[in-house]
Amino acid sequence: SIPLGYFGGIGAGSRQGILFKGSVFLDLMTQLKIMVMDKTGTLTKGVFRVQEVRPQPGVSPDELVRLTAALESKSTHPVATAILDYAQGGNAGSRAGEGHLSIPVTAVEEIAGHGLKGTVNGKEVLAGNAKLLRKFGVAFDEALTQIPFTIVMVAINGQFAGYVTIADEVKEDAAAAVQELHRLGIQTIMLSGDKSAVVQAVARQVGVDQAFGDLLPEDKVAHVDRLKAELAANPKAKRRPARLAFAGDGVNDAPVVALADIGIAMGGLGSDATVETADVVIQTDQPSKIATAVKIGKATRNIVW
Ligand code: ADP
Ligand code: MG
Repeated sequence: SIPLGYFGGIGAGSRQGILFKGSVFLDLMTQLKIMVMDKTGTLTKGVFRVQEVRPQPGVSPDELVRLTAALESKSTHPVATAILDYAQGGNAGSRAGEGHLSIPVTAVEEIAGHGLKGTVNGKEVLAGNAKLLRKFGVAFDEALTQIPFTIVMVAINGQFAGYVTIADEVKEDAAAAVQELHRLGIQTIMLSGDKSAVVQAVARQVGVDQAFGDLLPEDKVAHVDRLKAELAANPKAKRRPARLAFAGDGVNDAPVVALADIGIAMGGLGSDATVETADVVIQTDQPSKIATAVKIGKATRNIVW
């Protein structure tokens, strides 16, 4: 039979918008040593907005936006949403209108952690990060990788055509959430597919112990795997197990959510696959609720034992 305290813990969670998918996760919370978090949508709002459009000489800003938006209309990535909002005049007063909607787009390929490739109006268009352009042998100014903004680089017919800078905001409670996790004796690590210059800037704002960017989904899996092995190899783990949790929201995060001892999904914005795979769902999307979940686990254990 399940001790009464567990129902109390699960109920306390649900009143706070924290869904525990089993009482075992309340127990595991009391053993949590490392909290690994995704950046976009977890510590930041995950709502990108276009800041600047920077075409190469000979390319008009409208053409750059229209071709990019036409291609991005085939993606549901937060980056794609930003470009579409901008092209539709939803932000910063673009004059591109809805013209991109009538442009024929075929042969679209979405490459995880890279971006998109497709044929737009008969032209070969790439829209994504530095990894994408390198993959297709397109030359660009390497200094662009150093600027602390997320950028969508665009190539037309194999030539670098310019870029669009986009920005996201840190969630209001992200820094407080990290501080509270530290107070609970938990180490914090941020892993992201976004460019390192952006990831390090966000890391400074929220105060995580460590942060790594430019990671492909499989790099995140390898990183978490290594951390889990290190925790297990620690001689102290024999007496008292040490656990790792991962919190994320994106569809690319599902494999790491599955691998962590405690997989946490941001439920509001999160993809269905990630919410389904998770052990704990934060329905309010607030990172501070991760620390609340740990505290509920500890309080429940004090009642049960
Ligand atoms: P994360 O969720 O950790 O930020 P993703 O793996 O979803 O990482 O994306 C990593 C990077 O790949 C993004 O920051 C962006 O540069 C690029 N990217 C992914 N999808 C697209 C897209 N549809 N259009 C442009 N760039 C994209
Ligand atoms: Mg993400």
